Amino acid sequence: MTDSVTKTYELGRWSLGDLFPGHETKEMQAALKQLENKVGAFEKQRDKLTPDTSEKDFLEIIKQLEENTRLAVRIDQFAGLWFSEDTQNQEAQTFQSKIEQIMAEHQNRTLFFSLWWKALDDENAQRLLKAGGEEFEYWLRQMRNFKPYTLSEPEEKIVNLKDVTGAKALQTLYSAITNRYAFKVNVDGETKELTRAELMKLAYSPDSDHRAAAYQELYRVFGDDGPILGQMYQALTRDWHNENVQVRKFSSPISVRNLGNDIPDEVVDTLLGVSEENTRLFQRFFKMKAKLLGLDKLRRYDIYAPVASSTKEYPYSQAVSMTLECFSDFEPSMELMARRVFEAGRVDSEVRKGKRSGAFCSSGDPALLPWVLLNYTGAARDVSTLAHEFGHAIHAMVAEKHNVFTYHSSLPLAETASTFAEMLLVDRLLEIETDADVRRDILFAKVDDAYATIMRQVYFALFERQAHDMISQGASIDELSAAYMSNLNGQFGDALDIAPEFKWEWVSIPHIYYYPFYVYAYAFGQLLVFALYEQYKAEGDSFKPRYLEILATGGSKSPDEILKRAGVDMRDPTFWQGGFNVVSKMVDELEKL
Ligand SMILES: [Zn+2]
Repeated sequence: MTDSVTKTYELGRWSLGDLFPGHETKEMQAALKQLENKVGAFEKQRDKLTPDTSEKDFLEIIKQLEENTRLAVRIDQFAGLWFSEDTQNQEAQTFQSKIEQIMAEHQNRTLFFSLWWKALDDENAQRLLKAGGEEFEYWLRQMRNFKPYTLSEPEEKIVNLKDVTGAKALQTLYSAITNRYAFKVNVDGETKELTRAELMKLAYSPDSDHRAAAYQELYRVFGDDGPILGQMYQALTRDWHNENVQVRKFSSPISVRNLGNDIPDEVVDTLLGVSEENTRLFQRFFKMKAKLLGLDKLRRYDIYAPVASSTKEYPYSQAVSMTLECFSDFEPSMELMARRVFEAGRVDSEVRKGKRSGAFCSSGDPALLPWVLLNYTGAARDVSTLAHEFGHAIHAMVAEKHNVFTYHSSLPLAETASTFAEMLLVDRLLEIETDADVRRDILFAKVDDAYATIMRQVYFALFERQAHDMISQGASIDELSAAYMSNLNGQFGDALDIAPEFKWEWVSIPHIYYYPFYVYAYAFGQLLVFALYEQYKAEGDSFKPRYLEILATGGSKSPDEILKRAGVDMRDPTFWQGGFNVVSKMVDELEKL
């Protein structure tokens, strides 16, 4: 398919027509009615779920659940995508809330299935696992992995009930308090009131006073409430410990998340340990950045300071062609898949007022092609983003043979195809770019991203581990702040000056409040891809089938098994070190430029 050379691509909007023609259409009404009927029919199966449920009934029940989920996902996806077209559209907003409510109710009404399945005795579970066949096996098995930590039904109900007014209420309160903060900064002689997102744009400003002012104001505001926000964190952490370690008997607070990711505890320890051994790598990067900015030493305020001097722009059509060429060079079928997404009108690429910012790829029902949202402005970073989101789309399409439960990869593997596609594109850009400034900007952006997704997240996770431990032994908020400062000192060594207000950074990280120990998955995914990319560079073509197999497996096997089949041992520290070696080469390259 060589017409990619001649075909031009234009910025534009997507069509949601393959989901629904609109929210107030007879098709949508029929779908909602149908879903209600299907959930009602599923509830009637409840009595059939006994230890001696027949294989035939069991298979029928899970297929029914699959059908219901596919329909629910299509309705939900329409609501979400329509809203992201224009977040100021009241109708879309109302419709999305209505759908969220319906979905939550349906989930509660069908919860009995997973509770029954987890409680079932091993012998009968084994018998029914066979009946489910290979396609449902991992999904069913992973549900049962939680069996040893599951309480009786009345106990589970009490936990759920108390969570609404306990942990969840505290999280909502944290969000309510911190989302109404207004930040005041003086920008060029004028005092402006900014949201957090607007404020943090200043961290990327070429003006060093703006960068300092952004962080000083951020931690002035969070620090004022530090003692209260810190108390909330202490309470949430104790709740996590009481429920998971004391009552459910997990071996440690982080094990809960590890089991959800299906990653063994010792693998996470290895990942965090190897990362700690590589702190000097990013310190070296920051020292080099200081030199380029003409500073003796970088302040913590300056780590995202732009060194960019090029303002090179890439027209959209060129960005698409470059991305398609990267795919076709790697594997021709990938180019074909990406082109199908364009040709089906699944891409919303233009910048529009009210449209959701950033970029994403949305895949729901495996029978439908994915949708991609971009806000394309022409910067080199936007070209990488385009490749990233099409990586996601290809991942979904390669795995489309799986059912709705096993189609998506688990979190640690979810960024594999996207980050890999970005690597292919960055290599391509570096190949064709002769301008040293442009090359330097591209590499800097890549290492900046690697820092933010790897080391920063690893140190958050290390802090969480320490904080959970300290809080269970009664640590005060001051002691936690002191521990946070020594965490930063460990991470940055002598490479950065860290102002004292950074002791409040930890109370400003929503992830550690909402999803304890979630953050290491980002580092896992990024390092995995770097290490795989290193293998690709070393091996060439013979690597490709193994890589495609990883993608094609979707979420139908455990991460351990998927990687083992690709010849990757995630227990081996040298594998993770391979990921850091890729970053190291990029830093070497930058030092040369
Ligand atoms: Zn992504």
